Amino acid sequence: MKQLKETKSTCPYCGVGCGVIIESSGDQITGVRGDPDYPANFGRLCTKGAMLHLTASAAITQQSRLLHPMQRLTRGQQPKRIGWDAALDTAAEKFAKIIQTHGPDAVGFYISGQLLTEDYYVFNKLAKGLIGTNNIDSNSRLCMSSAVTGYKQTLGSDAPPACYDDVNHAGTIFIVGANPAYAHPVLFRRIEAARQARPDLKIVLCDPRRTDTAEIADLFLPIQPGTDVMLFNGMLHVMLWEGWLDTAYMAAHTKGFDTLKATLRDYTPDVVAQTCGISKEDLLQAARLFAGINADDPTQGTRAPTLSLYCQGLNQSSSGTAKNAALINLHLATGQMGKRGAGPFSLTGQPNAMGGREVGGMANLLSSHRDLNNPAHRAEVAALWGLPSVPSKPGKTAVEMFQAAADGEIKALWIACTNPAQSMPDQATVRRALQRAEFVVVQEAFASTATCAFADLLLPATTWGEKEGTVTNSERRISRVRAAVAPPGETRHDWQIVVDFAQRLQANTLFPYTSPESIWNEHRESTRGRDLDITGMSYALLEHTPQQWPLPEGATQGKARLYEDGLFPTPDGRARFVNTVYQPVAEPREARYPFSLSTGRLRDQWHGMSRTGTLGRLFGHVREPALQMHPQDMARRLLSEGDLVHVTSKRGSILVPVQASAELGLSQVFMAMHWGEEFLSGISTTGQRLAGVNALTTSAFCPDSKQPEFKHAAVKVLKAELP
Ligand code: SF4
Repeated sequence: MKQLKETKSTCPYCGVGCGVIIESSGDQITGVRGDPDYPANFGRLCTKGAMLHLTASAAITQQSRLLHPMQRLTRGQQPKRIGWDAALDTAAEKFAKIIQTHGPDAVGFYISGQLLTEDYYVFNKLAKGLIGTNNIDSNSRLCMSSAVTGYKQTLGSDAPPACYDDVNHAGTIFIVGANPAYAHPVLFRRIEAARQARPDLKIVLCDPRRTDTAEIADLFLPIQPGTDVMLFNGMLHVMLWEGWLDTAYMAAHTKGFDTLKATLRDYTPDVVAQTCGISKEDLLQAARLFAGINADDPTQGTRAPTLSLYCQGLNQSSSGTAKNAALINLHLATGQMGKRGAGPFSLTGQPNAMGGREVGGMANLLSSHRDLNNPAHRAEVAALWGLPSVPSKPGKTAVEMFQAAADGEIKALWIACTNPAQSMPDQATVRRALQRAEFVVVQEAFASTATCAFADLLLPATTWGEKEGTVTNSERRISRVRAAVAPPGETRHDWQIVVDFAQRLQANTLFPYTSPESIWNEHRESTRGRDLDITGMSYALLEHTPQQWPLPEGATQGKARLYEDGLFPTPDGRARFVNTVYQPVAEPREARYPFSLSTGRLRDQWHGMSRTGTLGRLFGHVREPALQMHPQDMARRLLSEGDLVHVTSKRGSILVPVQASAELGLSQVFMAMHWGEEFLSGISTTGQRLAGVNALTTSAFCPDSKQPEFKHAAVKVLKAELP
């Protein structure tokens, strides 16, 4: 009889990063339950997490997984099985030839916040160290790069200062551009529990949609799409006027307020209320709650701490950095920073978007929060890697990379653990890129992603329950991911695939790794003396419990909160106010395209559904794709529930049933991002077949963070004529 085994690991879905205990027997994962000792979830799991074992069953693995290397000799034909040696030799030969002919910037790597930190580290070293190109970016660009630039511009470092425990100490929780009830469910349970335990806790929600999160809000601000900077500057204007600023904190720990103060003059309550579509009373109330001012006597008492939680509503925007910075301005102006229950706390969408930031796995970053555009940082990384230099030319970020491939500038793409043929905005450009590239490698665990159909070479990778490494959750907590079962078929670990390819591409000594732990040890050494110093965080320490960074050598425990001493990682130790100016969305509504389309997540699905879509039970909550629209807008257009409509933007069109939703404001529509072309027929303006809602979205991006604007595209909606 096979022995039952229990393995502690981490959920592979969202940035809450819940600890799980995997139950297995032989090579079968048989169950999963929340780890009661894990500090992010204390045993709780959401619906998706609780069904992880079912998505990893033997039957589903056989149906859904890519189990052998495959090569597609002719595009449009079925790929044929080949051996690993032949696959890696082919990849090395094609990449070497393109690099030799066109230079290193003719190749690009597009990786994922689903990868483990060790995988990320070797991919980054492969591109920037061995090949000599900074053309490596991640799908994390689509979810948190505006949070990175927001933190860096204001606080001097990409480091979320707060932690989940702050939920239990906050006087006000200010949730903006986030729907934790769906996207971070276990964190939402924690907020609900705090609310029950402390009736004085106030919750403010700002979101154009009245999501399920609004159920627990004391104050709901249904702002117009994209008007967050207007709101935050307006709140600061009110605080200034009312004398609610923490001038002592500002004088001791910040600089740059005078410039911002001049800008704030224009953000009067009348202008803000009108632009955001809220009342002046609600604006005043939001400002008071944020500042932590006593309602009965605003001149008395200590300030209640305010914690802000924010996510894609701020990040996925053509002014994402300004939105993040304007929110952090509020924290700096009210001293809501570096104390229990207070601080700006960006929530990460993916399980390891943070880990990718830490190893510098993006086009503009280097290992350990170093910047590519800083010559000293480049020299440090080159020295760490034993190289004369690392390239200085800026790499292509996600949108830029696919645009460059569509233009013929990038000729080979290596895509790992992500599905850009569904998840990237403006699918027409992305698909042109995948078709035009001379060689496309897709390194994937799942066989059915839309991107697999464009691959010349498919490399089967291991996934959750089969691989070892680490991930970092939203609160800077690093935890171990562990293998419970042996890899199925011929799948290999992502880091191994990179190392094997690197050895074939070019003889080198850069990848001496024998295990994820050996990669981890090199990574943590690279953090020595940096803000995220984890030189003391060995695998042995992580065996006992996950830890928050920083945790330098000699320390036994990480830091729950940052900036408690009021010192920021800037040259003079002061945080910066950023002079944030409101900019409307990149593609405003107009007569021909009168609706604002926003996209987002459902509670029980994950990304392109490669894992969650394998399980019928996870469709119990929402069965099929639909365009949500306000009932009055439907009535005006003579639309009934379930009618098929063409939703059309300047880039493409999809056919989808319409569904009434009073969650939305007038002239707003919403669609979940999960369904691809197998469910949603779409077409570009040039007649190209497209996938899902991203046939419609725009690739306009924030100039600082290069994060695209998934939260707003102008569309029209027309009832489909039935034959
Ligand atoms: Fe997994 Fe996120 Fe659910 Fe936790 S909240 S179980 S990390 S999906």
